Amino acid sequence: MTDAPKKGWFSRLTEGLSRSSKQMTEQVVSAFVKEPLSEQALEGLEEHLLESDLGPAAADRIVERFRALRFGANPSELEVKTALAEAVADELKGHQATYDPLAGPRPFVTLFVGVNGSGKTTTLGKIAADLTARGAKVMIVAGDTFRAAAREQLKVWAERAGAHFESRRDGADAAGLAFDAFTKAKAEGFDVVLIDTAGRLQNKSALMDELLKIVRVLKKVDPDAPHETLLVLDATVGRNALEQEKIFGRTAYVSGIVMTKLDGTARGGVLVPVAQASDAPIKLIGVGESIGDLQPFDARAFSRSLMG
Ligand code: GDP
Repeated sequence: MTDAPKKGWFSRLTEGLSRSSKQMTEQVVSAFVKEPLSEQALEGLEEHLLESDLGPAAADRIVERFRALRFGANPSELEVKTALAEAVADELKGHQATYDPLAGPRPFVTLFVGVNGSGKTTTLGKIAADLTARGAKVMIVAGDTFRAAAREQLKVWAERAGAHFESRRDGADAAGLAFDAFTKAKAEGFDVVLIDTAGRLQNKSALMDELLKIVRVLKKVDPDAPHETLLVLDATVGRNALEQEKIFGRTAYVSGIVMTKLDGTARGGVLVPVAQASDAPIKLIGVGESIGDLQPFDARAFSRSLMG
């Protein structure tokens, strides 16, 4: 996952952003080209940033930055677009980090948390496939013991990736499963353990208790485990992602964020306020449903495609 972004993903992300969002960027840019400092151009910019879900604080800062920019009398389209992408990228400074389980202790344990439907299983599967392709011995643990469908889906990913799969019957204790699986992984020389967890927010406190219990039992095997806790958030839910970050970030010891479904949404800007609100950096982004569609987060490339 530390590899440079694969060729093609940038264009996929750009293509995925809705046409209306792109049209709006064009309008904003051409307003600046025509009249760089008009209030109308600045208002259009603010509206665009808010509609992309960047949030009022970042939108205000970017508008003020544009006000102070002092473009020449006739800035080119490229000049304005570049300034816009740079302004967004600067908002993300210090909020980016890499995820590389093969650089850490063995077995390296990653816990995946997030609400159902956010893309946890898919993200875990993509990571497993990437790691096995790089020669790692990978164990996948179906820690969402409530949803049989989730377990089946994860099993398919495990088979596809050539990863070992550990699961238990419906309703079994997820922490017990995590403890046994990690103990086994340690004894059998696994490089990486990827643990899926439940994501039913209907009963927040029960869910958080369960996540904390998993963390506690993992620490009995290795005090430093889990070595990574990735919070998976769906970009298409827009500002609801902020609420989810608050819920999980407060209790689940999140160490990195994965923002999924950035293909096909005009609301990808929500990544900015999420990154700023969280103590954890953005590590990976999902730009599609297939194996190759998970990429290391690169703030500059993201900003360029968001403001394409
Ligand atoms: P979970 O309930 O959190 O485990 O979520 P899943 O992994 O089952 O994902 C829910 C749906 O989102 C599935 O249909 C996935 O194929 C889809 N999905 C996950 N990540 C992405 C992504 O980056 N882009 C797109 N377009 N779909 C995704």
